[in-house]
Amino acid sequence: MNVYDSDRMSELLAPFGYEPTFVPDNADMVILNTCHIREKASEKLFSELGRLRVLKKRRASMGKRMIITVAGCVAQAAGEEIIRRIPQVDIVVGPQTYHRLPELIVRAERAVNGQILYTDFPVEPKFDHLPSARHVRGVSAFLTVQEGCDKFCTFCVVPYTRGAEYSRPVADLIIEAEGLVEKGVREIVLLGQNVNAYHGVFDDVQVSSLSKLIERLADIEGLARIRYTTSHPRDMDVALIEAHGKVPALMPSLHLPVQSGSDRILGKMNRGYSVDDYLRLVDRLRTSCPDIALSSDFIVGFPGETEVEFEATMTLVKQIGFAQAYSFKYSSRPGTPAASLGNHVDEAVKGERLLTLQALLSDQQHKFNDSMIGRRLEVLLEKPGRYPRQLVGRSPYLQPVHVVSKDDAVPPRIGELIKVEITGSCPNSLAGVLDTNVDGDGIEKENFV
Ligand code: SF4
Repeated sequence: MNVYDSDRMSELLAPFGYEPTFVPDNADMVILNTCHIREKASEKLFSELGRLRVLKKRRASMGKRMIITVAGCVAQAAGEEIIRRIPQVDIVVGPQTYHRLPELIVRAERAVNGQILYTDFPVEPKFDHLPSARHVRGVSAFLTVQEGCDKFCTFCVVPYTRGAEYSRPVADLIIEAEGLVEKGVREIVLLGQNVNAYHGVFDDVQVSSLSKLIERLADIEGLARIRYTTSHPRDMDVALIEAHGKVPALMPSLHLPVQSGSDRILGKMNRGYSVDDYLRLVDRLRTSCPDIALSSDFIVGFPGETEVEFEATMTLVKQIGFAQAYSFKYSSRPGTPAASLGNHVDEAVKGERLLTLQALLSDQQHKFNDSMIGRRLEVLLEKPGRYPRQLVGRSPYLQPVHVVSKDDAVPPRIGELIKVEITGSCPNSLAGVLDTNVDGDGIEKENFV
């Protein structure tokens, strides 16, 4: 979501003469768009600000200005501390207020010594004030459909930094999606902190669920693939489960964080489902879409987690079999309810549990990738590879696929959907050759580029 937000900031500032530069030394303004989910997010921010402080001083000695802006969730959570500790920071702006950046920059330019802290949760929807996407990075694009979260998992800062759940209206999303497709986008990834809680209005009165939104987006000509992330198990309704079986554009992969395999720990996390609920949900998803590839998030060493409870997580992973997963040691986030829980698990124990879990998850990922060898997969080509006649794309299951075409074949182009025969697998990717049995040159009938 920060990638999406950073692009919107860039587009917002373009009419005021700003354009992106990759060299901070030359920048009239630097925006650090921060994420609070990562461990030690604040420390990383302050060390980066230390470097920028030196650059700003150097530019000042040449009579040039550098506006330093801190945006994103660390800005929201630690704005006052940033202002207090780093006087060289000009603007601190939260994730719900960055649409006001142009006005804040004018204020910062006029201020002699003033710093601006703007981390309210404004009444006006931010998206009404943002320009639509002007530039696209490639054939796959993000589209934020929902922001914020009302779930209040006890370990998570999102409800405090991104605020309450907000869903964008269907009509706005259709317009933005059509604009992306006109610019060559073939795949849209719908984003939200709690994306399947989406409940945007359409026709001014009715409320659309995520499944209805997906069905509408699937009608856009030229849009080949739809994905969505990140989902909460509690919000996987019947219609969304069924959409995986009946909407061809909806890809058979789903990130569905479970976090733990222990009911007691899930309760302490305030996740709102049991292990049985999750297992039943996976069964229903696999009934609707038998080849769906599941990925998940895990936290090991949540306060009070016993060895038996950790083993329950291992059992759950073995029962389900994940195509991919993210796993972390629990680390407390200031201000969250879990941060004040006692009975913290020893760091060394957490480390051992994480290694054990990751070995199992990595083994499952290898097996999943190996199971693709010999299959013909539809691949959306995204970028050139490192070698001649090589392109890199993604399988329906989200795996990167390195594709080579034969010397005598017409090479396919980026943005095309092609059939690829999978010939090899690595831990994180697949290798394949252009399937020459499809339409003579391996390229499917439709050629969109
Ligand atoms: S559902 Fe996700 S975003 Fe919301 S509080 Fe829980 S972990 Fe955080």
